[in-house]
Amino acid sequence: MKKEITEFLYGGDYNPDQWPEDVWENDIALMKELNVNTVTLPVFSWANLQPAEDQFNFGWLDKVMDLLLANQINVIMATPTAAQPAWMSRKYPEMLPVDAQGRRHKHGARTNFCVNSPDYRRFSGQIAAKMAERYQSYPNLILWHISNEYGTYCYCDHCAQKFREWLQKRYGSIENLNHAWYTNFWGHTLYDWEDVVPPSHISSLIPNAFGNRDGATNQSVAVDYNRFMSDSFLSCMENEMAQIRKFTPDIPITTNLMGTFKPIDYFRLSEALDYVSWDNYPSIHDPASLIAFKHDLTRGLAKGKPFLLMEQTPNQQNWQPYNTLKRPGVMRLWSYQAVAHGANSVLFFQWRQSLGACEKYHAAMVPHAGHLNTRIGRELKELGDELATLDNGLLQATNRAKVAILFDWPNWWAAEYSSGPSKDINYVRIVHNYYRAFYKQNIPVDVVSAQADLVGYDIVVAPMLYMTSADLAARIKQFVTDGGVFVTTYFSGIANENDLVITGGYPGAFRDLLGIWVEETDALSPEMRNAVVAADGQNVLSGSYDCGIICDVIHTEGAKVLATFGQDFYAGQPAVTENQYGQGRAYYVATDSEEALLDELMGSICKLVQQEPVLAVPEGVEVTRRYADGAAFTFVLNHNATETTFSLPDGEHTDALRQAPISGDITLKGRDVLIFCTQIKG
Ligand SMILES: [Zn+2]
Repeated sequence: MKKEITEFLYGGDYNPDQWPEDVWENDIALMKELNVNTVTLPVFSWANLQPAEDQFNFGWLDKVMDLLLANQINVIMATPTAAQPAWMSRKYPEMLPVDAQGRRHKHGARTNFCVNSPDYRRFSGQIAAKMAERYQSYPNLILWHISNEYGTYCYCDHCAQKFREWLQKRYGSIENLNHAWYTNFWGHTLYDWEDVVPPSHISSLIPNAFGNRDGATNQSVAVDYNRFMSDSFLSCMENEMAQIRKFTPDIPITTNLMGTFKPIDYFRLSEALDYVSWDNYPSIHDPASLIAFKHDLTRGLAKGKPFLLMEQTPNQQNWQPYNTLKRPGVMRLWSYQAVAHGANSVLFFQWRQSLGACEKYHAAMVPHAGHLNTRIGRELKELGDELATLDNGLLQATNRAKVAILFDWPNWWAAEYSSGPSKDINYVRIVHNYYRAFYKQNIPVDVVSAQADLVGYDIVVAPMLYMTSADLAARIKQFVTDGGVFVTTYFSGIANENDLVITGGYPGAFRDLLGIWVEETDALSPEMRNAVVAADGQNVLSGSYDCGIICDVIHTEGAKVLATFGQDFYAGQPAVTENQYGQGRAYYVATDSEEALLDELMGSICKLVQQEPVLAVPEGVEVTRRYADGAAFTFVLNHNATETTFSLPDGEHTDALRQAPISGDITLKGRDVLIFCTQIKG
């Protein structure tokens, strides 16, 4: 049984070894001023903790730990393994990764190690064990944090050998592998496992084939290498976890993820985690719906349980082309947005702003000025004070949704490695487009994996589910047979889990479910557009909508036509269809349409299954709800810069930030937040 985290976490990454000791007492005083109760350390301190192979230097960390304990500040203890010491790279150069160009890296940067390196695993396991042994009895150690933002692929000879072993386990025989990879194409038949080479820029990956995106001459190989690398990160992380659990079996473990980060199948990695946490670094141009989507994805990785916001910046970042300030109120608003979607923490990178290197202009809780009498300092103080008063009942509260959006990493890889039909195929963009249609109506959404149980949802949306296993197709059909509503789009149901086309007509996996046959797929260049025109005799869509990128030429095989294309040789042919199947319905959207079509279509579907918004509010106001035993916490987030008004439903509500009853009409200032608690039955 793992120890629960029993309070709402507020604080951030603390790097005291970048500062002289006489700064530490001041750090603690400033932390107290802000109500900081948690710090994460020592994320990048391997060089200071192990200055030589047989030498360990924990003295400074002991002092910091004692200081934090004396001041009742929780510690999320990070293994410092994201950046190995220089002596290690010098002495064990095969630990350095080989990149896709076949170049062995030199020391420097971070996550600059071969994820399968036996030397790296030996040393990372050793430092994890030493730390767990040393700090196991500290009562303020609440969570382990493995490494930092995993993600560097390696293509070295050792990884190649590990890849062969991984393939042997997956496919059993070279014949099965030849079949799965369709190696008869271009005479790529493999005679021996030794013939397998990692797909890289010097073998079968095509650098920047689609703008800044790699293509592949054999997508099946490329997708399998991504799966293998995801499993490599998992086993690398589990190597450290096993060492830690020898000493602290009851302390939960996390690693910090990064939302829609393409290289790692986070559903796979999250299976091993006790807590899922992530780092939220949107650009100022990212819509609130995209941030919300990534929070909901993270909650999906946590299988619906609360998660942790491990990092965000209190103000500007440093790596964007233009590092815009967070406008007044935005830091607080985005912090509560995380909580609204299931986070039990508001943590920042980092506590004190670095003096040198690439993150010196990345904002921190304590800026270079060295005090908190700043705009951001005052906002942090206000937020810290508020969070300290939050009802701890919220920690157990979970979000509930009847709409699921399916998100699948291998599908993402396969769809975007694809050579054709269009370089503008963009998985995250299309998934977000469908998510946004629900978000704008304040209909809660769960983001779920391809393995998730669909029972209990009213609506399952799987935009661009290009790669569909027989098992997944069967589960979706069962879901619809039993009365569910399924929505999918162009470039779905085309290929199996090895990226081999399902024969018999597109969309092979879903042809009977959707009651259509896609004869051809047209890819439009950016200057080419078409239109989707609502059909007569239906009441789902009402207008005409701009569309582009992909247009499928469809024949119906039982489906009802909701809209047709407006132009070109397929004008008048179906663009949006609806098919009765068992007790349910399945919808197909054959093109990439403007926002209004998705708003209207998803709105109609929600009405059909009686999905109501959490609360009726003006545009730009986000509403979510978390449910605890006997209480519901409703979050109202005004993303507009101007004030907004709305009415609370009848009943007794408590303002959770001011601990006072509220009712009736509410006016919320620009970028302000209301959290209210309502007693409920059940
Ligand atoms: Zn390697």
